Amino acid sequence: MYDQRSIIHSVGWSDGHLPRNRGPVTHLALHQNSISIFKTMNPRPLLIHSHYGWPPKPLNPYHMTPDLDSYDTIIVAFSGGKDSQASFLHLLDEGVPHDKIELWHHCIDGDGDRFMDWPVTEDYCRKFAEFWNVPIYYSWKTGGFKREMLRENQKTASIKFETPNDGTIETGGTRGNNSTRRKFPQVSANLNVRWCSAYLKIDVGACAVRNQPRFEGKRTLFITGERAQESKARANYNTLEPHRSDLRNGKRKQRHVDHWRPIHQWTESQVWEIIERYSVNPHPAYHLGWGRVSCATCIFASEDQWASVREIMPDTFDEIADYEDEFGFTIRQNKNVRELADRGQSFDGIQNAEMVRQAVSETYDQPIMLTNWTLPEGAFGDSAGPS
Ligand code: SF4
Repeated sequence: MYDQRSIIHSVGWSDGHLPRNRGPVTHLALHQNSISIFKTMNPRPLLIHSHYGWPPKPLNPYHMTPDLDSYDTIIVAFSGGKDSQASFLHLLDEGVPHDKIELWHHCIDGDGDRFMDWPVTEDYCRKFAEFWNVPIYYSWKTGGFKREMLRENQKTASIKFETPNDGTIETGGTRGNNSTRRKFPQVSANLNVRWCSAYLKIDVGACAVRNQPRFEGKRTLFITGERAQESKARANYNTLEPHRSDLRNGKRKQRHVDHWRPIHQWTESQVWEIIERYSVNPHPAYHLGWGRVSCATCIFASEDQWASVREIMPDTFDEIADYEDEFGFTIRQNKNVRELADRGQSFDGIQNAEMVRQAVSETYDQPIMLTNWTLPEGAFGDSAGPS
């Protein structure tokens, strides 16, 4: 039995770093460069310090696992990709009741033309939610990626989000200055210039929380599936911190919203292991050879991804290439997408015509569960994607 205060002092923290849940712990594991503290025989670490060297430096106290029972609602930002699935399945492992969980999917193309996202993604997410009997709510910026990209002396568009009882709510779009983009987001970890992640996902999710009174006076956990292994920038994310929509100390109204990244320390193997254990049929793009599923034409796409997109979605590919010409501004510095595709080699998986049909269809008609689960073609493969 260990006392959390003495452990926290031993790694250079003060009392202010004590977690809310201060009960005694029964297991302490010291690794070469990490400490794990376990509350019960259930090996769920309360604190994990890793990849920071030894002895660990004082860290943000929010590298902790929250007390899941303490939340009224748990929202999983659900892209349909493997990491958001693993985050959801981890909640099932932890015994979180289904009626506390909501999946939220941010539609990158919004209500505009299909341009960036996989056509099948929205329906795949819907069928996944139906299978697990959890609600799914969609949210988007009006006009989606394309309207924001083509903005010319205009304000950024409004945001729309679905709700359980009040239908679809629209907010924003009236304040701020007019300005012009007419270019693709920059391939950067800096979200100020990589505007797609900020404008089409992060802001949309926060706006949907802030504008629903049902979260006021309640405790809400907002979950996203970033992993440290994906990039240097993501390795520096906190595992647990107040969400940007949090208002726990508000004067007129309070809203407690924590942001948790439950699989931040997981490896890709762990992600596939939990998906296999639950026999989930991965998003069709994984079967085609993509190692990460984000937008089909993600600005971070590798040469092989561009070569593959050109074959299976030629119209979308040409549209993007034409916009690069029109803007005089390419997605990647010094090379346009046609040159990138020329240098790449298409994935073998796109020879599977049935899977291509499924990926570019707006209806997902394959099973969510597989009886004979095998690793998809793209697992441990080309993982180009947002950093
Ligand atoms: S997946 Fe790529 S293109 Fe799509 S929003 Fe994220 S960074 Fe932008």
